[in-house]
Amino acid sequence: RPMTCPFQYQVYLNRQRSYRELPMRLGETSTLFRNEDSGEMHGLIRVRQFTISEGHLILRPDQLEEEFKGCLDLAKYCLGTLGLLDKCTFRFSQWDPANPNNKYEGTAEQWEEAQRVMAQILKDLDVDYTVGIDEAAFYGPKLDIQYKNVYGKEDTLVTIQIDMLLAEKFGMYYIDENGEKKLPYIIHRTSMGCYERTLAYLIEEFAGALPVWMAPEQVRFLPVTDRACDYCADLARQLSDLGYRVDVDYRNEKIGKKIREATMEKIPYMIVVGDRDMENNTVSVRLRTGEDLGAMPLADFTAKLKAVVDSKSLDLN
Ligand SMILES: [Zn+2]
Repeated sequence: RPMTCPFQYQVYLNRQRSYRELPMRLGETSTLFRNEDSGEMHGLIRVRQFTISEGHLILRPDQLEEEFKGCLDLAKYCLGTLGLLDKCTFRFSQWDPANPNNKYEGTAEQWEEAQRVMAQILKDLDVDYTVGIDEAAFYGPKLDIQYKNVYGKEDTLVTIQIDMLLAEKFGMYYIDENGEKKLPYIIHRTSMGCYERTLAYLIEEFAGALPVWMAPEQVRFLPVTDRACDYCADLARQLSDLGYRVDVDYRNEKIGKKIREATMEKIPYMIVVGDRDMENNTVSVRLRTGEDLGAMPLADFTAKLKAVVDSKSLDLN
């Protein structure tokens, strides 16, 4: 499937719905497939199989502004947490009135109404945006959250869309307080977008040196000799039991080489363990920046790691 919309609508259509059940907020993490041209494919940014956090909110017209604001808050929270929000811009993507038969469903009146409502919401929410003509979805206008890659090319990270058209096509009525059949509005939204694309921008943004809380490997133990291997295994298990992502380099290689490789791989923390550490019950901590923090008890390192991870800090120390 190339999108989740019709599948989530089936949940709504499972039985008759009352106005009291709205808004209905549906969301899932799904694997989607799109047969992009080979020329369009680009690293992790545009791929044919991808993972997306996609949701649909089915709501009464009077709920539109509040629910739209909730979607915008969620997207801002996700992108802010990932550290990408500061570089994002907002685009109000509209249809092309000069070329309505291009791809657009619905009448000019319906489009003008949807865009008028969306402009009002963006004004109320104080969103600074640019306008993109002919960038709308075929069923409605969008708020696109745009990100520029290192080459200056802009891509959409997250999108929130107002749809006043598709509910009728799918027969998605609800019963209002007067017992009458009414058509809901739908918001299509992502929260952190396509995982592969967002990941590509994260790798680019941090040049591979991901913040500790999201680094796939947070700590690597580097035994100086075979004698330190059991000690490292034991400490690694302690950190792993606390929920950290830890590995041990057991290879029979020179310590300089192990440090060099871990640094190249941008592993945030390297724990070098030699005979003296074992005698003193300490660990020697090095950062991927090359800084050497020296020897300390494992408990001190664990406290430092916890503080950095819990605060989602970009610093290592
Ligand atoms: Zn959708």
